Parts: sequence; structure tokens; C-alpha cells
Amino acid sequence: MAVILDGKAVSAKVKEEVRAEVAALNEKGVSVGLAVIIVGNNPASRTYVNNKKKACEAAGIVSEEYALPEETTQEELLALVEELNRKDSINGILCQLPLPKHLDEEAVIAAISEKKDVDAFHAVNVGHIMIGDYAFLPCTPAGIMEILRHYNIEVAGKECVVIGRSNIVGKPMAMLLLHQNGTVTICHSKTKNLKEVTSRADILVAAVGIPHFVTADMVKDGAVVIDVGMDRDENGKLCGDVDFAAVEPKASYITPVPGGVGPMTIATLLKNTVTAAKLQNGLDK
Ligand code: NAP
Repeated sequence: MAVILDGKAVSAKVKEEVRAEVAALNEKGVSVGLAVIIVGNNPASRTYVNNKKKACEAAGIVSEEYALPEETTQEELLALVEELNRKDSINGILCQLPLPKHLDEEAVIAAISEKKDVDAFHAVNVGHIMIGDYAFLPCTPAGIMEILRHYNIEVAGKECVVIGRSNIVGKPMAMLLLHQNGTVTICHSKTKNLKEVTSRADILVAAVGIPHFVTADMVKDGAVVIDVGMDRDENGKLCGDVDFAAVEPKASYITPVPGGVGPMTIATLLKNTVTAAKLQNGLDK
């Protein structure tokens, strides 16, 4: 029987720390503001944005929503980003992805001031993360590292396997594990003998986007299994990339979906927004 890694509980602790930090900043006359841009009518994006706004409110962070219609042009979106880059009361800017197909996500990410890039997607911040000297944490991977820390799960010297190499999860996840002295392998759709590789993992992170992709035969006995997936099963129910029922008995620790990695992503976003406010006000991060 594995220990269930309770991301909800860990995120509640982090959110409480953020709330106290925001209150202390407010006492010094510093307010903390996040702008959230959402374009079009993607229902999943709407849910994520609502959750982020709710979390900001609970933490004392002022959130401003900019909901733009589906037919927004690239020029209009970039003009809004520029305006928010200049707006003093806004410390962080988040543009909810994916954007409608006609918009260029990379150009939008590049247009956000790296000082307000609380998702840590801007190339400058990605570079800082690669070097290991960074202010903004990559939200989902940093949330996972926080869970590992909370449960005293040692990374140094461990075989860490990350399935997925996206810029938002897989690659920064691998970097953070490497910074903690894990021996890291990144797998992707062209990886040969995937099962052989994943079966070596002491810490296995699945960020694939395919429901129940990781089966029991891919997991070593006693492995720590982290499920980043936010997928829908055949009945439309939220599930992860890991076949939880089959894998849980083999694992030593495992994150559930929901209630595992997801809540940590938002908690890290709040932390980054506070960091942005501090840096923009000349305070130490
Ligand atoms: P993504 O950009 O679609 O990347 C998926 C990765 O999985 C790619 O690198 C892909 O390889 C790899 N992959 C696909 N099929 C594979 C296969 N058969 N064998 C091995 N690797 C395979 O997805 P993402 O944005 O990283 O997200 C991954 C999952 O995490 C999704 O379910 C997403 O909803 C979820 N997510 C959750 C949170 C959270 O807060 N919990 C945050 C972000 C994402 P190639 O590069 O070769 O195509």
C-alpha cells in the first residue's frame, strides 16, 4: 500500500504562507496584483482561470481578468500585454493556454515582461531555470518538488524518469530533479523500450496527457509515482496518466488525480506573483 501524496493539504500550507506574506506586504503599503488573460471559450481554460482567481482572492492577491473574444487578433492581444507590462498595479501576467489556433502563443509569451512572467515560460526565465539561479519557479514542476520535500522524499542519487518533454512540464521537471542531484532520464513518444526505462525509476513522473498510460508493469516495486495528467476517461471523468488502481499497490508513494499535483500548480503561481511584487518593489525575493 502506497502513501497517498496529498497535494491538496500541501497546497493549503503553501497558500497559507503566501497569504501571510501578502498581508505583510500590504502592511508595508505594497499590494500584489495578477492579470489573467483568457481568449475564447475553452471550458477547461475557464475552469482553470476561475480556480486561479479564487485562489488569488483567498491569498489577498488582487486579480484582474481580461476575457477576450475568440476572434481577438494577435495585434489586439499583444497590445493588451504591452498595456499590462506598463501597469504598476499589476505584478504578474498570466495568459491562459492554449490560445485559439490563429494566435501565436510563443510571440505572446515573449511579449510578457520577464519580470511579470509568473508562469516562468519566457525564454529568459527558462534560461535562469536551466542555470539553476531563478526567481520564478516553473509552476507544476516546482509544485511537485514541494510535495517531495514535504514528504521527505530524497531525490539525490535516485533514478528519476520523466515521461513527457513539454516546455511547461517535462523539461523543467527534469531540470529541477537534476538540480536536486537526481539521475534524470526524459522519455517521449520516440523513446524505444519505454517500459524498460520506466521500470528503472525510483521516482517516476508521468506528464503524457493519455489516460491511464502508466500501467503496473511499467513501475518498479517501491517507486514514487507522480501523476501530472489531467485527462478524461471513457466516461468523461477526470483521471490521470497513471492507472492508479493497478499502480498504487506497487508504489511507495503516489499522487492521486484529482488532489495531487493540480492544486500545487496554483499554489506555485501565487508564490511567483508575490515574488514578482517583491522584486518590482525593490525587496528581496
Ligand atoms: P504535451 O505538451 O502534450 O506533452 C506530452 C508529452 O508526452 C510529449 O513530450 C510527448 O512526446 C509525450 N508522449 C506522448 N505520447 C507518448 C508515448 N506514447 N510515449 C511516451 N511519451 C509520449 O502535454 P503537457 O502540457 O506536458 O501535459 C501533460 C499532461 O499534464 C496533460 O494531461 C495535462 O493536462 C497535464 N497538466 C497538468 C497540470 C497540472 O497542474 N496538474 C499542468 C500542466 C499539464 P513528444 O514530445 O515526442 O510528442
